[in-house]
Amino acid sequence: MSEQSVPAQADSILCLISNPLDPVLNSKIVARIQDETGGEINWLAQKTACEIIAPKTGNTEQIAREILAGLPVDVALVPKQNRRKKLLLADMDSTMINEECIDELADELGLKPEIAEITAKAMRGELDFTEALATRVKLLRGLDLQAIKQVRRERISLAPGGRVLVHTMKEYGSYCALVSGGFTLFADYFAKRIGFDEATANVLEFDKSETLTGRVVPPIVDSSTKVRRLDELRKKLGIQDRQTLAVGDGANDLAMLKKAGMGVALHAKPAIAAAAPFRIEHGDLSALLYLQGYNEEEFVR
Ligand SMILES: [Mg+2]
Repeated sequence: MSEQSVPAQADSILCLISNPLDPVLNSKIVARIQDETGGEINWLAQKTACEIIAPKTGNTEQIAREILAGLPVDVALVPKQNRRKKLLLADMDSTMINEECIDELADELGLKPEIAEITAKAMRGELDFTEALATRVKLLRGLDLQAIKQVRRERISLAPGGRVLVHTMKEYGSYCALVSGGFTLFADYFAKRIGFDEATANVLEFDKSETLTGRVVPPIVDSSTKVRRLDELRKKLGIQDRQTLAVGDGANDLAMLKKAGMGVALHAKPAIAAAAPFRIEHGDLSALLYLQGYNEEEFVR
């Protein structure tokens, strides 16, 4: 069972986080929130992230949201205990990178609209993940390795805040793992570029002439694989669930988000965001550092 629970307010911290590219927080609005919630103000990054330590009222998140009135600021109430996590598990597609790799591969074959529609449905949880993966990979049959490497070089971009998230957590002693329902050809490559300790993903099958057969080598990395990896690494590190952090955007991430001590849906589809314990809708991946109480001066870039 998940150890995530709503903390008593005195044992909690109210986080207010905006996007570094649109830093809309100011001392006036934070003071207005504190006037109603009580607690102590602590800025983590000028105009970008601020926290109110040990608020005194019971409905602090609601108070903050009402005062912020639609400003692009994420609001989260986190427990003081075990705030800095020892393990990060992160999804890749649309989380650590901006794209869905399989959709970009499909574009090489002129199949992007068809495949992207299946991807979107699968990520909203409307299709069985394994079936949807098999259907799409089958359509990619015949694509050659060189074309895939070109897609990897030219069409994929790192999501903002990802490198600083991983580098900082590692500097402070955390282990960082990428867990992707996508493909090792991308996950291994981007894990290295971002700084992850390891990557888990699906293996595409090639024939002798280095073209895709249209199959994935079993076993499939799915939702349950992500949860299992979280458990395995947690045990290996000798830590508790509450010391773990997970981030993702899709239906296949939800079980992992619920299992982790802090499970964050990042820019997720509405149904996923609603079901996840924590949500970041406006901030980038550096928001996960602010949720853990890191201030900007501690960031390792
Ligand atoms: Mg994803």
